[in-house]
Amino acid sequence: MRTIRTVAGIREHVAAARATGRSVALVPTMGAFHAGHHALMRAARGRCDEVVVWLFVNPTQFNEAADLAAYPRDEARDAAEAETLGVDVLYAPPVEEVYPPGFATTVRVEGLSDVLEGAERGPGHFAGVCTVVTKMLNMVTPDVAFFGQKDAQQVAVLRRMVRDLDMPVELAVIPTVREPDGLALSSRNVRLDDGERRRAVALSRGLRAAEEAVAAGERDATAITAAARAVMDGVEPDYLALVDPDSFQPVQNVNGRVLVAVAARIGATRLIDNTIIHTAATPDGAPTT
Ligand code: AMP
Repeated sequence: MRTIRTVAGIREHVAAARATGRSVALVPTMGAFHAGHHALMRAARGRCDEVVVWLFVNPTQFNEAADLAAYPRDEARDAAEAETLGVDVLYAPPVEEVYPPGFATTVRVEGLSDVLEGAERGPGHFAGVCTVVTKMLNMVTPDVAFFGQKDAQQVAVLRRMVRDLDMPVELAVIPTVREPDGLALSSRNVRLDDGERRRAVALSRGLRAAEEAVAAGERDATAITAAARAVMDGVEPDYLALVDPDSFQPVQNVNGRVLVAVAARIGATRLIDNTIIHTAATPDGAPTT
């Protein structure tokens, strides 16, 4: 595995791969790898000839300086893990390579970026994500880019961006990898102390309760969120919402596909999770089970 740190270097590498007919996968990450990242890399390895992992803690998508400063970083360990998984290139540019002096452009998806995570983290969050993803797609020009369903709103925003701007890339979305007790893996989980780690399972427990309520025939969003909150052991979510998985508009009555999204602070650590629930769509939204 090669580590590349410059735009010129990654362009040269990808051009050489393409010249021999190799397809290119990109796995964007902020490092501190866990089994969720590994799942993305395995999927990329299984799909394309050349696998590029982008490792960059993007400062522009952090709304809190303390969160950026505390973000876990261990490039040597990440590189060893990526190599074991058969990654070809770790592309880890320094901040000044990505944002040189005078950098002045922002890519912003209206509407979708302003609700839930966008409302909590501010308008700069998804603009930061969209801008850096646009840059990495332009630098690496992958055939397929891999993202996790764990960041469901990020996926929806990026799908809209790729469609709106006619970007020639396929987005592949990989299911959320969880701890045995249900906690979604996250680089931020290492910041949880023992007590917080036990409380953190409240998010996935709430999502399971929402799924069970729907499976039992409940279709009303207020009743479903109440069922979820009831099992969250006093963890007060920043939001717990039923929304359309593509538009992120609120859903009042479940009919077809619905995304249940939750975010909560556990001590100083903010965690997010989600699940997609499918019910058979009926013309009037009446339960079919
Ligand atoms: P991050 O390094 O946190 O920016 O995450 C990089 C990619 O890994 C994003 O596309 C995330 O959605 C994805 N990811 C993070 N956690 C998980 C998880 N538990 N399961 C699957 N994918 C994940």
